[in-house]
Amino acid sequence: MIIAVDGPTASGKGTIAKALAGHFNLPHLDTGLLYRAVGYQCARNGGEPNSLADALAACAFDDSLLDDPALRTEEVGGLASRVSVHNAVRKALFERQRAFAMQDGGAVLDGRDIGTVIAPEADAKLFITASVEARARRRFLEMRGRGVQVTLLEIQDDLRRRDERDRNRDVAPLVPAEDAMVIDTSALDKDEAIAAAIAAVEEAVSS
Ligand code: C5P
Repeated sequence: MIIAVDGPTASGKGTIAKALAGHFNLPHLDTGLLYRAVGYQCARNGGEPNSLADALAACAFDDSLLDDPALRTEEVGGLASRVSVHNAVRKALFERQRAFAMQDGGAVLDGRDIGTVIAPEADAKLFITASVEARARRRFLEMRGRGVQVTLLEIQDDLRRRDERDRNRDVAPLVPAEDAMVIDTSALDKDEAIAAAIAAVEEAVSS
């Protein structure tokens, strides 16, 4: 069974994808991490993420980079959203994601274009969303918990900018697949969101 989980930053899709993988006993790939690795490598090379040549050169990152906690920062998220607008970068990362999706027994992948580009044949496609305010609040509490000095407004502005870039880019923009089930987590806590996602997958595979 292939499960595609797409949605904007801080919608809860990562948490949901991990929980689905545990529940259905499937391997999980956080595809955002690949774009983050490219963005981070690009900066380490002294490159400019808006430059196609610099972003493409950074696709040759070493896999050990994927374990680097620096990839999880907001700053690297911003770099990722810049390198990800380049079609050639998306193509360079395509095979790896596709092979993961097509492995025997299936998989759960989360990202922006899993249900539309990477695995359009997925058995279940979920699009996880939430209001900017709800997403910013979650990110704020999580960052404050880690001791990061940031205001709610700064996070909201950053989320809006990244949403705008992800939704309006020419290639693989962030849009729900036509047959995706949309789950709005604005008013749900973590357990409720996971329960809704499990129910949606069960419904998709039984229909
Ligand atoms: O999900 P995450 O916040 O880690 O993703 C970082 C950035 O990588 C996103 O803002 C998006 O621009 C890009 N991305 C993408 N396609 C994916 C996963 C992430 O374009 N499948």
